Amino acid sequence: MKYLANVTTIAVDDERCTGCGACMEVCPHAVIEVRERKAVIVDRDGCMECGACVNNCAFGALSVDKGVGCAAAIINSMVYGGEPSCDCSGDKKGSCC
Ligand code: SF4
Ligand code: SF4
Repeated sequence: MKYLANVTTIAVDDERCTGCGACMEVCPHAVIEVRERKAVIVDRDGCMECGACVNNCAFGALSVDKGVGCAAAIINSMVYGGEPSCDCSGDKKGSCC
């Protein structure tokens, strides 16, 4: 699922990132990959700003303003039809629902 283009606030602080991979494991939309021991945002528009990655980063290397992506999912469902869904299933620590 894609959300509104170029609006997500997800950001990585390379100085703090250790490349542990926790963010990559918990992200429900495969937004982040670890390359050369650093987290990289590989699918920015796939971020729903759920905050799971931020909550699971032990090094304070991620930041996001939670909620905009979920709102975008709701708006998209109103425009294009269907049920709003962020796909996170609530089965990962820090997921939004
Ligand atoms: S969880 Fe934090 S330290 Fe680990 S790879 Fe992701 S951003 Fe880097
Ligand atoms: S805020 Fe959620 S969707 Fe966005 S990168 Fe982090 S875990 Fe993935």
